[in-house]
Amino acid sequence: MLPAMKTIGGLDRFQGTLIRPDDDGYDAARGLWNAAIDRRPALIARCKDADDAATALAYARENRLPIAVRGGGHNVSGSALVDDGVVIDFSPMNRVEVDPVRRLARVQPGTRWGEVDAATQVHGLATPAGIVSDTGVAGLTVGGGFGWLSRRWGLTSDNLASAELLLADGSRVTASDDENPDLFWAIQGGGGNFGIVTEFEFRLHDLGTQVLAGPLLYRADQAREVFDAYREFVASAPDEASVYAQMRIAPTFDWVPPELRETKVLVLIASYSGDLDEGERVLEPLRRAIAPAADLVMRKPYVAHQSMFDPGVPPGWGYYWKSHYLPPLTDAAIDVLVRFGWEMTSPTAFSLAFHLGGAIAERPADSSAASGRDAAHALNINASWTDGGREHRDIGWCREYAAAMQPHATGGVYMNFMHNDEGEARVRAAYGPNYDRLAEIKARYDPDNVFHSNQNIKPALGPPDRS
Ligand SMILES: Cc1cc2nc3c(=O)[nH]c(=O)nc-3n(C[C@H](O)[C@H](O)[C@H](O)COP(=O)(O)OP(=O)(O)OC[C@H]3O[C@@H](n4cnc5c(N)ncnc54)[C@H](O)[C@@H]3O)c2cc1C
Repeated sequence: MLPAMKTIGGLDRFQGTLIRPDDDGYDAARGLWNAAIDRRPALIARCKDADDAATALAYARENRLPIAVRGGGHNVSGSALVDDGVVIDFSPMNRVEVDPVRRLARVQPGTRWGEVDAATQVHGLATPAGIVSDTGVAGLTVGGGFGWLSRRWGLTSDNLASAELLLADGSRVTASDDENPDLFWAIQGGGGNFGIVTEFEFRLHDLGTQVLAGPLLYRADQAREVFDAYREFVASAPDEASVYAQMRIAPTFDWVPPELRETKVLVLIASYSGDLDEGERVLEPLRRAIAPAADLVMRKPYVAHQSMFDPGVPPGWGYYWKSHYLPPLTDAAIDVLVRFGWEMTSPTAFSLAFHLGGAIAERPADSSAASGRDAAHALNINASWTDGGREHRDIGWCREYAAAMQPHATGGVYMNFMHNDEGEARVRAAYGPNYDRLAEIKARYDPDNVFHSNQNIKPALGPPDRS
């Protein structure tokens, strides 16, 4: 039973910082990771605690203002901001409390993954996270979430033990397998459609602090034979191993050998999270299959591996993404990768095939709202440009590349990799067979679609069942 609407007067109870268009710092406060997004909220409510979030929510509802919720502000679509509305901004709330005995971490909703990794790795523990340290915990988790450890321990949302939520009617609930299990099922992949998470509790695993990881660099003209070796490797790789494939112009980073810098490269980025000697044996066939132009796979701290991609996707550039889930790579899919992978004009653009399967695939598709359990890869096509503009010709490259890959994809897409122009059919495809159940749960918890700045699930038609 959902409690009745709780009314809170104006914003006088708000303890955090309220930022309006005329205030100093407004432009910085509405800045997102994706600088191509330009939205002007009426109020940015930087919350000190969950009570502040409740106050801001009540204020927005009473004044019939649209609402957006901001975790790390990293979603490419810009859904963390809303024009002329209220942004419930958690950026000041980034506390992480680790209980090493119970192997649990309580995490506030403005936290970034680098902060979680730093706190858990003190104890040699970790939970599957994204692969860029600056990405927000909140949006990634409610969207599903995958990274280097997911083939071993599942999606990020599979490792959610419980969550504290503020619902559209102002009530507060706990969601877990035992409390409000339907809501818990929905927030593990259904995005921010159902409520505002004010605290996450994650299960942690014994990782240790070292992984065997790093890039293998190949020249683009080696791509076909490398992709052949790659698909053979991933077809039987153990769950401790994840190898991603990236097509890009080699950056001028320290770790890139000088002769490869600014050339077209295929990079296989390997990660082995189990016993490191065993990892050397597991990765050896891949490292030997085709001689790489550089082999930088080595034993290193997990936190170092977790920030390896950071310099290539900084906040403040313009970005545009398209994405597909892919089955095991076919010859036709490899043709598309080779044809489009280096056709961008910006040296910062790239495409990246994440390696899924393993523990992600072990759970049934309806075990949570998260998608992608049937996929071998998630392909992220990342157009990016550094001049801060909103348009770039590589947006066309990104769209053409995605359209060419469509016939070779599963038909599904990871909702956290979608932009804001995908259309309703594609949003439905993102939630796949779970869409109808999600729409029913949405009708119960948010019948007025208060939380619509997201890849939106429309409440199912019919009177809301409030039992
Ligand atoms: C550089 C980069 C690397 C990435 N790498 C990965 C990766 O390795 N793996 C992966 O799975 N994804 C990855 N992503 C995608 C990432 O999961 C999404 O961008 C995600 O939305 C980021 O979360 P955030 O809190 O920063 O998002 P925000 O932009 O702050 O929020 C996005 C949406 O999440 C919802 N939301 C935010 N906070 C809350 C809350 N407290 N309660 C309920 N809903 C909320 C809202 O609907 C909001 O509109 C990456 C993104 C970027 C930009």
